[in-house]
Amino acid sequence: MQARDFDNELTFHEYEQNGTVEEFHEAYEEAVESVQAELGGDHLLWIDGERVDTGDRFDVVSPGNLDREVGEFAAGSSEDVDAAVSAAAAVAPEWEASDVDTRVEIFRNAAAIMRDRKFELAATISLENGKNRTEAMADVDESIDFLEFYSREFERSDGYAFDTGEPTPGQHTRNLLRPYGVFGVVAPFNFPMAIFVGMTAGALITGNTVVTKPAKATSLIAHKCVDIFTEAGMPNGVLNLVMGGGRDVGQPLVEHEDVSGVVFTGSRKVGLSIQETFSEHGKHGPVIAELGGKNPVIVSDTAELEDAVEGVMKGAFSFSGQKCSATSRVYVQENLIDEFTDRLVAETEKLNIGRPTERETFVSPIINDSALESYQDICARAEEEGTVRTGGNVATDGELADGRFVEPTVVTDIPHSHELAREEHFLPFVTIHPISNLDEGIEKSNDSEYGLCAGLFSQDDDEIDRWFDEIESGMCYVNRSQSATTGALVQAQPFGGWKYSGTTGKFAGGYWYLQQFMREQSRTRVD
Ligand code: NDP
Repeated sequence: MQARDFDNELTFHEYEQNGTVEEFHEAYEEAVESVQAELGGDHLLWIDGERVDTGDRFDVVSPGNLDREVGEFAAGSSEDVDAAVSAAAAVAPEWEASDVDTRVEIFRNAAAIMRDRKFELAATISLENGKNRTEAMADVDESIDFLEFYSREFERSDGYAFDTGEPTPGQHTRNLLRPYGVFGVVAPFNFPMAIFVGMTAGALITGNTVVTKPAKATSLIAHKCVDIFTEAGMPNGVLNLVMGGGRDVGQPLVEHEDVSGVVFTGSRKVGLSIQETFSEHGKHGPVIAELGGKNPVIVSDTAELEDAVEGVMKGAFSFSGQKCSATSRVYVQENLIDEFTDRLVAETEKLNIGRPTERETFVSPIINDSALESYQDICARAEEEGTVRTGGNVATDGELADGRFVEPTVVTDIPHSHELAREEHFLPFVTIHPISNLDEGIEKSNDSEYGLCAGLFSQDDDEIDRWFDEIESGMCYVNRSQSATTGALVQAQPFGGWKYSGTTGKFAGGYWYLQQFMREQSRTRVD
């Protein structure tokens, strides 16, 4: 099938291409100043086109500087969920009846506003969830891509409605996909804009109305995105925002009898519990869930070692490993493993740990205290049961003491079957394992309940072909030094997983994503 062109938003790359990287940095730094000056505000829920106070608050602090309050947020309850679902249900027929052009125009307007405000939005992400500047900008870029790509696809397929002709004389038929009604959108902290916007846009553009619940830790950027959708022309009640904890707000949203479908990205535990809730409540709509990963990389003895070291390091430690796509276990052919590991350790020790808004920072802070405890726990176990080649400590030098910073950690001498090499940690922690050949590497890579991303470094065409055919993974990358497993682009590298990494086998940012939010109807009229 023919490739379809799509121009991704690649902000930092464009500044690099144009030789204007300094301008990128200046614009970002100015935006950090102005966003910092506005932090600490009070933010309410958004229900039926009104700001709603709940009388209760939670606060969010910056993971890179725990003395900096990001803001206070109205904490929702099941009553607020009720109100939001009622508002969404009331306008569902009208929203479904709106035509393709009307809907698409709103999403394109939203993309344009995000483009205009991209530095402010990136600065907000850095301050709220700790992403460094280039990764925060990539989060904004991906949001714009989702809006543009879904608009284009919805328009290109004419809203998934077409004539199926007159199969026998007098029978006039049509075939269409129709929305389910009200969708709950439950989002994670780690791509607080891209995943939030992508899931919300998927549900909305297909004609569902939405009640969305962002991760508590990233409520400010979610709030800004909802404001942008509103400014772009979203009618009252079509998109509603409830904030608060998973149990207080997420659970009642998922259980609500008028919520027909849920789109979720987050941990396997919560995702599967949402599926169970749907089945216990006898709901027939979809649970579109993107879950965790334990992403393997194979380094064959034909690999370019420099590329493999760089790809693994970036895949494992960008955003401190807090990506479902993070490289977390590496299988290296025995004759190379010592050299590979020594070089990986040496390169990792050069990485800059720092505040996310600093220009030199590569390794940024981690999101909360329970992640910090979990890091200390797994590093202690690695010390006892394997060899910690570098890292293993909380970083407290100078201003790092004010945030939650940890060292990127490389571990060897842990068996492939060990819990540390099987479970997702969502931290900057990677284990290295010897293999005797590609077959063993593929077998071990596939020996996981997850199947999200996988990488291979090899210069042998036969190995590459075999690996593509046999690896059990949604996203597969060969010889990718920019990152062995992370950094997918909308349209070209649709994002999703096999096995326990996802529930539908259809990927975000791909050609088969939107149809999941709709159900089919054939219409026959005899004249
Ligand atoms: P969680 O599963 O902890 O949380 C995700 C969302 O679910 C949050 O908004 C959370 O609320 C909410 N939630 C928690 N409990 C419930 C509940 N009982 N009912 C309804 N909602 C609930 O994930 P994280 O935010 O910690 O994100 C990390 C996880 O996300 C990792 O496992 C990662 O692999 C996965 N992920 C997967 C991706 C993919 O595409 N496959 C992409 C990105 C992340 P709150 O936190 O506010 O309490």
